[in-house]
Amino acid sequence: MSPNFQIPKIQKAAIVEATDAPLKLVDNHPVRQPSELKPGECLVRLECSGVCHTDLHARKGDWPSPAKLPLIGGHEGVGLIVAIGEHTQDSPVKLGDRVGIKWLAYSCLDCEQCRKGLEQSCPNNLCSGFTTDGTFSQYVVSWVRHVTPIPENLESFEAASILCAGVTVYRALKYSQAHIGDWIALPGAGGGLGHLAIQYATSMGLRVVAIDTGEEKRKLCEQLGAEKWVDFRESKDIVKDIIAATDGQGAHSAVVTAATGAAYAQAVDYLRNGGTLMVVGLPAHASLSADIFYTVTKSISILGSYVGNRQDAREALEIASRGKVKCFFQRRTLAELTETYEGLERGEIVGRIVLDMQD
Ligand SMILES: [Zn+2]
Ligand SMILES: [Zn+2]
Repeated sequence: MSPNFQIPKIQKAAIVEATDAPLKLVDNHPVRQPSELKPGECLVRLECSGVCHTDLHARKGDWPSPAKLPLIGGHEGVGLIVAIGEHTQDSPVKLGDRVGIKWLAYSCLDCEQCRKGLEQSCPNNLCSGFTTDGTFSQYVVSWVRHVTPIPENLESFEAASILCAGVTVYRALKYSQAHIGDWIALPGAGGGLGHLAIQYATSMGLRVVAIDTGEEKRKLCEQLGAEKWVDFRESKDIVKDIIAATDGQGAHSAVVTAATGAAYAQAVDYLRNGGTLMVVGLPAHASLSADIFYTVTKSISILGSYVGNRQDAREALEIASRGKVKCFFQRRTLAELTETYEGLERGEIVGRIVLDMQD
């Protein structure tokens, strides 16, 4: 027998009404009712949602493609399926299942990109908290073919940030062409994405050179398994120091998640011959410049990696559920989202913030 859920008519939500406008917190936002769901759609009652730097970019209109307005941000949600649209066929999930809402909310599953497993680059995709409403409300409408089942032994708050930060770094490492025993450079290793990247990298058998600054971050990185540490504020020549830390030859690969442009160009210089640069972060108004002579003669590969597909999400969660990767987070409420954005903007948030959506 399937569970029967009571669906309220209104809910709490954080709404962006215009680009860069302050967040509007309301408690009377309408909840889409089960009878209003289209086939293939589902309604998820959220337990929690992580807060990502991307949410800030979306609110501020930092990128070349515009967000929908008004917008409900958020794309690291975990909750229960409480309704499924009538006439939905062959749903892979059912009522009462605990699922995750990630950045990629919807893709057509039938274009060339989708068929090749690049559904995140589907021309008809929808992104949670960007081109479709996201998880900063108590209920969210998603799609049965795109929600991510959460492993039973992974707590919802632990799973939230794996859905974006975790999947993103996991996929970048997976496609970094680095093999067991290779050196991987992680600029920003002590941050939200970086601290997860260290753990995924070491569980893949990679050797990590962590690049960040400050005693607190050094300790965290080393505790998580980074073998070498380079403090970018203390270093007089960061390229030289990274090459020295990686057997004098440079890193085999770098996963760059930085929110500023400079970290990307530098990476080409400290990669060893044949190395791969994984471009992951999305700094506002930035372009990548690399010396063509050295890119060619060092045989450097430069690859963009954009979140992850449904399979990447399942793999990233599975690794976390086995205790190999743990996200450092603090709990807050939806009412504290404005101050969370302010903290993110000032670079003061250590680890991730996960909002309790039922509080
Ligand atoms: Zn994100
Ligand atoms: Zn498609």
